[in-house]
Amino acid sequence: MARKTKASPRKIRGQAKKIRRSEMYGSGASGHLLQGKYNTDPVYAWFQKHHVTSSKVVDDDGVYHSKSGKFEWKVPSSVLWCLHTPLTTNQMNNQYAWYVTWVSPRTGQRLRKYFMSPWVAMEFIAAKAGRVDPHAAIVSRSRPYYVIPKHRGRFPIRQQVGGRTITWYWCPLCMQPRRFRAVRPLQEFFAVVKVWNEEKGHYVPKDRKLRLLHCEYCGCTNRDSVFRRSNQPWEVRKFKKGARRARRR
Ligand SMILES: [Zn+2]
Repeated sequence: MARKTKASPRKIRGQAKKIRRSEMYGSGASGHLLQGKYNTDPVYAWFQKHHVTSSKVVDDDGVYHSKSGKFEWKVPSSVLWCLHTPLTTNQMNNQYAWYVTWVSPRTGQRLRKYFMSPWVAMEFIAAKAGRVDPHAAIVSRSRPYYVIPKHRGRFPIRQQVGGRTITWYWCPLCMQPRRFRAVRPLQEFFAVVKVWNEEKGHYVPKDRKLRLLHCEYCGCTNRDSVFRRSNQPWEVRKFKKGARRARRR
């Protein structure tokens, strides 16, 4: 019988501790995907653990203090909530699953810098980007986040400011409320929208033509399925004990 050539989980875990995380990537056309030999449970578990332990860089009040001790950045609470959820495989497979976006004070252009970890990105915001642009933000590249439980069913939020109505949507990639603007040239698409039905006493799905909107920070559009679910009434259906499937309405 041929000897097993596959490395044991313990061996890989040992490797994972010795090897720098950046050395585990190098696959795919971009060269930034996790190499096949590291697609193992112990390596993923190690990434998760690293993600959790790294979260300690933010204090109990949600403030990140820069390494020099001179600067700090108040992490938006919704961003912090999202970062405290476990990573997806997709996020771990991508070396640069995060970026920081900010506007250059010199050229007025929106800039990006990619990061392997959102916790490292915070150092960059506190010490650099956040000091020239107070709206500098962390963006998730490989996973859209659903609206956090506290705000479910609240979006879109309409606010009256000086006789004008401002609409805030949950942006799944910025992990924050954002204003979305029409993509130019104008584009339209069809999507299912929940419309309240007085007679039936619940929401009814209707096909509607919508204008394509995008987030000016990250480019996420309102066609994204996580955006669609996050910015509509969030229904929780109750089931009787023992029910195995939803009754059709
Ligand atoms: Zn966004």
